[in-house]
Amino acid sequence: MVPLSLSVRIDPNSGFCFGVIYAIQMAEDLLDEQGYLYCLGDIVHNDEEVQRLQRRGLRIINYEQLAELRDEAVLIRAHGEPPSTYKLALENNLTLIDASCPVVLKLQNRIKTSFDKREQIFIYGKHGHAEVLGLLGQTSGQAVVFESLDELLTHELPADLTLYSQTTKSTDSFYRIKGELEGRGYRINANDTICRQVSNRDKDLRRFAAQFDQVVFVSGTKSSNGKVLYQVCKDTNPATHFISNIGDIDRAWFEPGQSVGICGATSTPMWLMEQVREALVAL
Ligand code: SF4
Repeated sequence: MVPLSLSVRIDPNSGFCFGVIYAIQMAEDLLDEQGYLYCLGDIVHNDEEVQRLQRRGLRIINYEQLAELRDEAVLIRAHGEPPSTYKLALENNLTLIDASCPVVLKLQNRIKTSFDKREQIFIYGKHGHAEVLGLLGQTSGQAVVFESLDELLTHELPADLTLYSQTTKSTDSFYRIKGELEGRGYRINANDTICRQVSNRDKDLRRFAAQFDQVVFVSGTKSSNGKVLYQVCKDTNPATHFISNIGDIDRAWFEPGQSVGICGATSTPMWLMEQVREALVAL
């Protein structure tokens, strides 16, 4: 086969956000010390990185397994947890190693304060997402979670709404929803709680994706910000391809001599993007 001689560059701004770096660093330090570590849920929404850490001794557990566990240390990942998890840990004599991201903890506190003031809280986020469950827990499950304006409008809405967002949602969509509601006469106390590690990346990615003939976006399929940021690249450069690992690369996407940009989500490890670069250069 004739080599494609692609010119390939990785986006220097892609890769883990500081919240994920902190959680993984904490896990690696403990794995070095004790050889194994329990973690509640996937430490990061990237199967390749999870498997790498599992090979080093990370044991991913779910809530049922947590309820059975006694006298162990358990890592709380960057997404954070609802108060019920801390209560269970106390009952089961579990030591929680809390790697909740500071941005998420601050959001949890703000929602708790709003709830204590009896505000009517609406959270723009994904149903069942770990971070959203942690946020919902601050309101004893009473806040309303919604994924779109249409879904929100199926609820009977009060005249005054306090609006929050999951940290990884799109800023544009959040402000569009706020504007629509105001247009319909609701008074909105809008709290833009979208993480700047995601929304700033939005602008950087647009600039990056526009420079190449083809773009390869690397992310786990479970990553919320991966979906948002992939769409940003795809809107800017329609020749954007979503992959989770090098096995997803299709040689037919490329013409000889083309330029290719590699970028990813806040949960995509740099080592994985480097593997992708090596695979593309070898085509
Ligand atoms: S995306 Fe932002 S909020 Fe989420 S873990 Fe990373 S730094 Fe924290």
